[in-house]
Amino acid sequence: MESNPSCPHCNQTTTYTDMTAWFCADCGHEWQEGEVSNETSEPTARDANGTVLRDGDTVTLIKDLKVRGTSSVLKMGTKIKQIRIVDGDHDIDCKTDLGPMMLKSEFLKKS
Ligand SMILES: [Zn+2]
Repeated sequence: MESNPSCPHCNQTTTYTDMTAWFCADCGHEWQEGEVSNETSEPTARDANGTVLRDGDTVTLIKDLKVRGTSSVLKMGTKIKQIRIVDGDHDIDCKTDLGPMMLKSEFLKKS
């Protein structure tokens, strides 16, 4: 048997569906299944302080980062605009002064 999704409102799993929408028996919340799965499939990233980063955010480097395959270094304090959150080990896709780059969110701070 398939397990029901938990209620996005109160997080209980006492949910049921009439095939067009889901209902929560606990709080009476009603929602479309699509809304929930869209939310959970969106990749998320957290910066060095644990702040959630979103597409389009501006971040600052908190340490010097060597650019792989080059002798260039992205300096601590460099501002990077319009980041994009992606799935993976390097979870920030962005354009820097040195070109397009994949970075780790743990080396960034939201500014
Ligand atoms: Zn609920």
